[in-house]
Amino acid sequence: MADVLNFKCPSCGAPLIFKGGTQKMTCEYCMTEFTMEQAQAAQAAEEADAASSDMVWTQPEQELIQDENGQVTGFHCPSCGAEIVADETTAATECPYCGNQAIVPQAFEGTYKPDCMIPFKLDKEKASGALEKFYEGKKLLPDAFKENNRIKNVQGVYVPFWLMSCKAEGAMTFNGVRAKTWSDANNTYIKKDHYLINRVGVMDFSRIPVDASKQMDDALMDGLEPYNYGDFVPYDKAYFSGYLADRYDVSAEEAQPRANTRIENTVVNKIRSSVTGFTEVSERSKRINTSDDKTEYAMLPVWMLSTKYEDKVYTFAMNGQTGKMVGTLPVDSGKYWKYFALGTLIPLIICLVVLYLLQKMTTMPIVIAAVVCLLIGFIYVSALKSAMNTAVIQTQADKYLEDLDFKVRNDVFMYSHTDVRPKPKRE
Ligand SMILES: [Zn+2]
Ligand SMILES: [Zn+2]
Repeated sequence: MADVLNFKCPSCGAPLIFKGGTQKMTCEYCMTEFTMEQAQAAQAAEEADAASSDMVWTQPEQELIQDENGQVTGFHCPSCGAEIVADETTAATECPYCGNQAIVPQAFEGTYKPDCMIPFKLDKEKASGALEKFYEGKKLLPDAFKENNRIKNVQGVYVPFWLMSCKAEGAMTFNGVRAKTWSDANNTYIKKDHYLINRVGVMDFSRIPVDASKQMDDALMDGLEPYNYGDFVPYDKAYFSGYLADRYDVSAEEAQPRANTRIENTVVNKIRSSVTGFTEVSERSKRINTSDDKTEYAMLPVWMLSTKYEDKVYTFAMNGQTGKMVGTLPVDSGKYWKYFALGTLIPLIICLVVLYLLQKMTTMPIVIAAVVCLLIGFIYVSALKSAMNTAVIQTQADKYLEDLDFKVRNDVFMYSHTDVRPKPKRE
């Protein structure tokens, strides 16, 4: 119990004294008393505050694929650095990532054998068709882009992924307040009940994908999620015939921070949303430990499409299993301002008609209406602009959360504090 005696009054921070008579911890400074249960909760919270996270992964061991000469054939791209494995059945004339046509044949000293893979389900025609569809309804797309733009290059690439699974234990503490306000003839009372909130949640994450390719844009890859893992098959050389395979260049170790960030965000979200019924909540501490971790190496099918417009290459990716299309389209600045003007003027005309009918056509209401309508125009055109980009970095892992279980779920009342505010005197 010596430690417990060291803990400080949660209300004012002064040291507490154990009083044998009341069997309670007492603060002689603010006269608040605490039961042993409350003291232990505070003690546990202080220990939790001091602990730190541990999200270290064990390194997987990968087997190499090689021919009898200890090699695999392919090419590298001097422009973006991509290393692509391709057998003689696969004709490639340009880099699937950057569109560079000066690719250099190269033999590599093997490539990793995937633990599992999803074979291509959709063909090249589906990919080209999907890109045409992707243009539809995009109001800010330059007309010339749709008309003169030819799909330059469509290539099927098996993109390497690390699939990261683990058990994550998240421990968080919070200070919470339940406030009540009432008043009588003379005063207003604000009573704040202070709570110590303690949560330990255990979550199982299964196969969070992190792409193992530096050339592959992270936002583009994250945008292709989710893949349906029900189609996983063991590696077979036959699946690669006619397709390219990106040689991994992001190690499992380098992939861990991206998986950890997604795990941490989801753990914090899930725990935070279990804290309910408080007027105010502030986080005291968080600690996340991972265990039972497993890293698998997988190849997932991606159609890479590139087009050229005004000397710039636009790259799109389509999920080769589900057909989901991801990419960033160019924005026509003329159309941008046209839709901004329309989005502002139409509501403004309506406002002016209403003001006229109400006979309120004075400076102040007109200025307010103009400001509000400019804002509406801006929000409208911003929504149109964000539809032009579907490549977004994923920050959550909740799609890969399989099980969530709370080991500790405590809201311990600590002390109350009531503010009395005299009502202003009426004359
Ligand atoms: Zn005190
Ligand atoms: Zn390249």
